[in-house]
Order: sequence, then structure tokens, then C-alpha cells
Amino acid sequence: MASILSDANRRLERALKYVSISEDASERLRYPKASLTVSIPVRMDNGTLKVFQGYRVRYDDTRGPTKGGIRFHPDVNLDEVQSLAFWMTFKCAALNLPLGGAKGGVTVNPKELSKFELERLSRGYIDAIANFIGPDVDVPAPDVYTNPMIMGWMMDQYSIICRKLSPAVITGKPLSMGGSQGRDTATGTGAFYVLQAMMAKFGQVPQNTTVAVQGFGNAGSVIARLLFDAGYRVVAVSDSQGGVYSPSGLDIPSIQQFKTSTRSLKAVYCEGTVCNIVNDHSVLTNDELLALDVDILIPAALENQITAENADTIQARYIFEVANGPVTSEADRILEAKDIYVFPDILVNAGGVTVSYFEWVQNRSGLYWSVEDVNARLKTMMVTEGERIWQIAQELAISPRTAAYVHALDRLGDALNAKGTRD
Ligand code: GLU
Repeated sequence: MASILSDANRRLERALKYVSISEDASERLRYPKASLTVSIPVRMDNGTLKVFQGYRVRYDDTRGPTKGGIRFHPDVNLDEVQSLAFWMTFKCAALNLPLGGAKGGVTVNPKELSKFELERLSRGYIDAIANFIGPDVDVPAPDVYTNPMIMGWMMDQYSIICRKLSPAVITGKPLSMGGSQGRDTATGTGAFYVLQAMMAKFGQVPQNTTVAVQGFGNAGSVIARLLFDAGYRVVAVSDSQGGVYSPSGLDIPSIQQFKTSTRSLKAVYCEGTVCNIVNDHSVLTNDELLALDVDILIPAALENQITAENADTIQARYIFEVANGPVTSEADRILEAKDIYVFPDILVNAGGVTVSYFEWVQNRSGLYWSVEDVNARLKTMMVTEGERIWQIAQELAISPRTAAYVHALDRLGDALNAKGTRD
């Protein structure tokens, strides 16, 4: 398969045609600043020692300390982590956060580890990357299959190494360890604010709008719930095992409850539990979900879900990328030709890192904000940058994705030029 980073870079090349940044600046942005690969030895519960591969990539720090999550997933590899770090760079710039981009990951299926093994792996990962991160250098956060509990262990481990309590080294922590109000729901909430602002432009009212959400994790389930509460008809949701579909609309609060207790949407349905909520449900695969005839499609799982192979089957009018990189650059062209609007990850899912930034600010100032404060600031930032990106798309007659890159590149180019070069 083609490298994800080279695919991500194709977006950069497309956007470079519309901005006047120096050759020096664009050349720098093509490569990650530093990539670290580590081996993490973990004592398993049965007494054996197992070594896991871990990565941390700092893509660009011109606008501030680098920022980005840590992913625990069996498919994690260096190419993927580099691409995710690239996206973080553009995401932070698009939202005007004074931060650069980074990402980390461990190649592991965390569902196969006990809680103690998971804790040893999390602390071992920090032991291995401690010299590479820091509150003024690089600040990790949660990503796929990592959560506040893991962030808490990691912050504690870093503090032990530094012999100094360092809450600002990592975000997405539990509230009791310096986490921010609203961080756990920030990605889905931020995406909801952008979606509402964009739908208003098309005169699309919630009651007449159908939605399918792929991925019912931390981000997907939150946006599904907010859309449901706002009156949208959420007709399909899925997780990695498959999903459920009801043309008359799903009862999202009940599904959220079942998902929490059983951990699998399909199992819930197959055991007949969901049938009790609405009786016209059917089970569907992730591919079927993507191809549904809905107004809005929300990929909220992993990258590379809509590719040159299945882009033709997409019927939705609007796609909101809550996952990072769910649409490949080849698929972009096919969707564009079909007049489908793709609102890109670097805008749509930026709510997570935006509230992470708020958390980092709170840790450094020692003053903590209410959830109302957090969400009000989040809304202002998501809507302001979303509106600006939409305006650029209109002015230059380009896709919202290319417009988001143009917007971010203007800021990155300014910073790179201001800094100058030593060479
Ligand atoms: N993992 C999230 C993302 O991809 C959040 C990163 C952060 O909070 O630093 O944007």
C-alpha cells in the first residue's frame, strides 16, 4: 500500500498552488522534524517479558511546542504516526493554536492486555520517550484506544522521572489530576459546532437531515448524541464489528447505554436488545454504512475508509471527517467530481486538541475553568476558523479541504519565514 505520509503530502502540494509561501518554508513542511522509535519491555502477568514497538514523531514546532495524541492499536507503524503528526501540524495552525504537530503510538492490541499490563506498558512508553517530550517541547494526549486513565499514569510517570509534578506534560488527564472540564467530549462537540455552522449555509434543517456515523467511540458517540438531541435523524451507527440501521432514526441515548454495557453494537443487536428500542432495525457492515443514501456521512473511526475503491458508492451529500484521514487523496477527487462536500479532519476534529490546549493553559496558570467557559471558547474558535475556511473555499473556488490547508499554510508560512533559516 502507498505510504500514508506521501498521501498526506499530496494535500500539501495541492494547497501550495494557492499560497505564496517561500520555497524554503514549503520544503521544510514536507518532512518530520524528528522521529523516535523505541522498544518497550513489559513484564506480563504470566511472568514472561514482551517487547512492544513504540513511536513518537515531532513534525514541526515553528508555532509552538508540538502537540498530538498517543495511539494504542495493532496497526500502528512509523509511517502512520508521521502522517498523523503532519495532520496535527496543520490542525493546530488551522485553529490558530500556538502549537506545532506531533503524534505517538504503540503497536499493541490493548484489548488483549490486563489493566496492570496496560499500566506497565503506558509507564514503559513514557520511560522510553521522556527525553523527547516536555511541557515546553512536546505535549502528548489521548488518541485511538487511549483514555484519561492512561494519560494519568503517563503524567505520573513523567513526574517521577523529573522529580517534579508536571501536569502540563500531557493533556486529556482525569479531572482529579489536572484534566480540563469538557476535554472528554471535546472532539465530538467541536465537530458538532462546525457541522451546525456549515449546515446553516446550505439551509439544511435538522428535522429533514439524515446522518450515518461510522465509529461509535469517544468522538462518534458524542456527535451522534448531540445531533440526535438537536433533532437530526441519525439512521445508522457502527463500531469495528459492524453497525445498526433504522430508516426512521435510531434512539441514540439507548444505544449509548447498551454500548457502554456490552462494548459491541452488533452484539447488542444480535442478542436482540436493540430490537426492544425500535423494531425496524437491521444490522449492516461498515461498507454498507458508508454507502447509505443519507445527507451527512460522518466517518469517526480510522484513516483510509473512503478510498478510490469505494468512493463511487458514496451517496451522502456532505462528509464531516471526525476521524483523522478517513478519505484518501484519490477518493477526494472522485467525491469532488460527484459534488460531495468533504469537510476535513484538520478542521472538523480539531475540538480535541483545542480543549487540550485549554487544559495545558489551565495547568500552567493554575486557574481552572468551568465546562460552560470551555465550551463557549471552543465554539467561538471552531466557528470562527470554520467560517474563514468556508470563505477561502468560496473565494478561490476550491474544496473545503484545500481551503483548510491554505488557511493553515498562511500561518505556518509566516512563522517559518519569521524564524528564518540558519542555512
Ligand atoms: N488525538 C487528538 C487528535 O488527533 C487530540 C490531540 C491532542 O489533544 O493533543 O486531534
